[in-house]
Amino acid sequence: MSYDLVIKNANIVDGSGAAARHGSIGVEGGKVAAIDKTLSGGKREIDAHGLTLAPGFIDIHTHFDAQVSWDPLLTPTCWHGVTSVLMGNCGVGVAPCRPEERSVMAWDLVNVEAMPHDVLLNGVNWEWETYPEYIAAIKRRGTALNIAMMVPLSALRFYVMGEAAVERTANTEELDMMCGMLREAIAAGAYGFSLSLARQHIGYQGRPLASRLASREELGALARTVRDVGRGTIQLNLPRDQRGLITEESYATLDFVARELQRPVTWTPFVMGSKDLPERLHARIQPTLRDGFRIATQTSCRPVQLFTTLREPFMFASLPSWKAAFNRTAEEQIALYRNAEFRREFSEDLAAGRGTVFRGRWETVAIARTKKDENRRFLDKPVPEVAAMTGKDPIDAILDLAIDEDLATGFRLAAGNFNHELVAKAIQSPNIMIGLSDAGAHVDQLCNAGMPSYLIQEWVTKRRLLTIEQAVQRLTWEPAAFFGFSNKGQIAPGFDADLIMFDPDAVKLNPQESTNDLPGGKARIVERSEGFAYTIVGGEVVLDHGEYQGATPGRVI
Ligand SMILES: [Zn+2]
Repeated sequence: MSYDLVIKNANIVDGSGAAARHGSIGVEGGKVAAIDKTLSGGKREIDAHGLTLAPGFIDIHTHFDAQVSWDPLLTPTCWHGVTSVLMGNCGVGVAPCRPEERSVMAWDLVNVEAMPHDVLLNGVNWEWETYPEYIAAIKRRGTALNIAMMVPLSALRFYVMGEAAVERTANTEELDMMCGMLREAIAAGAYGFSLSLARQHIGYQGRPLASRLASREELGALARTVRDVGRGTIQLNLPRDQRGLITEESYATLDFVARELQRPVTWTPFVMGSKDLPERLHARIQPTLRDGFRIATQTSCRPVQLFTTLREPFMFASLPSWKAAFNRTAEEQIALYRNAEFRREFSEDLAAGRGTVFRGRWETVAIARTKKDENRRFLDKPVPEVAAMTGKDPIDAILDLAIDEDLATGFRLAAGNFNHELVAKAIQSPNIMIGLSDAGAHVDQLCNAGMPSYLIQEWVTKRRLLTIEQAVQRLTWEPAAFFGFSNKGQIAPGFDADLIMFDPDAVKLNPQESTNDLPGGKARIVERSEGFAYTIVGGEVVLDHGEYQGATPGRVI
């Protein structure tokens, strides 16, 4: 028997959770054709001596909708053993979109996902109007990794309803059109749709994001459309209460969508704020689970830090007082930040608990960058300390500092998952998947794409909380089975040959670095890894010891 590729002498961790075993695999036509103790006769053979062979990881929460236009490799995610991504999360994306609406669509992505507006306008190739055309454009260009694509509801609503999408619910005619377009998108390869109901998710100049105005009737009709086609999922970004649990209202929506869809639904974000949160979550979603519907949330397995400036004040987007700060010139923003009335309303918003990303705890915010030499003394100091040093209230302290530096001052927010004990509990709880990397978004604010490397380095090798078999299962078979990605997530005959080879003890997440590789030379934060030898997609070697081999074997899932 001859194979396209034989991988010999591997320590096979097959994704199912079963104990690792020594063996070889043969790959033929992009699929795993055989698994045995020894195999030979490959057109290409790789000796995996000392390496673990596993199914490629699946990153279930990415925002590569724009980046896929200029980076088929999907960096930095590809550097961490990932072979498949789910993109189009949180209701925002770049299709469907009419030429004259590109700028408005791009502002949604600026505000929600912190991608630079000119990068979106000039870097995205915009060779489409409808979603099927978008899929066709991506296929023409090719990708190194597999992608599953969710239709962003904000874009769909805006396409059908125009400006009314940010003002009201859809009428019958509009809803019919949305369902028709969603059906066509799924038939062309889309994997369901996504939406955000989160308060911090605002569109152009502080208007609500269009998906936030979707009525129960709309969500029901769209969910039934996905159900009838029989393919795809729905992802919801939902409001949570001050203790981090989805609100009763959010849960009612989630339950409704799960029942109408009759397929798995996922919601985000889940950030561990207290020890009993997994139990309280489980209790809340129990009625839906008991009736046989599937719901899983996603958490990050590592601390989440957010870098921000008051020029792009994402962390305050849920506060009504900050609406007027979005998509304005620096001069307009400075005038607003000086205004005593604005400062009073800001203070009131915090006191009333209206914060979602920033929840009013100033000790979680530190000064990350200063422009003027005389302000260097504030570097790495938490805001309460800066306030004490300047004899001001925290609000006046940060606004005055930012104004003094023409808004160049950088702030670092410890957004969540800083307590290891709590994170350990979350990543061992049922109905909580490991996800939330947000790769492709928040490009100059944070980078969490190295999550798989972190999981192995921190939770397998260092803390021994998970075995390598469990960690691999959580990143492969668990999401593949949940979302219904057929032939993915395991090493078994007939499964896609999406494979990685790595040395678990050597896997290491490298420090974050800033690079200027976005279109137009704009900056973003990336992170690389060590310990991964090969990344194979559909039987083709994509990365060989970190070196891109130039292939684009990725498929639309
Ligand atoms: Zn997201």
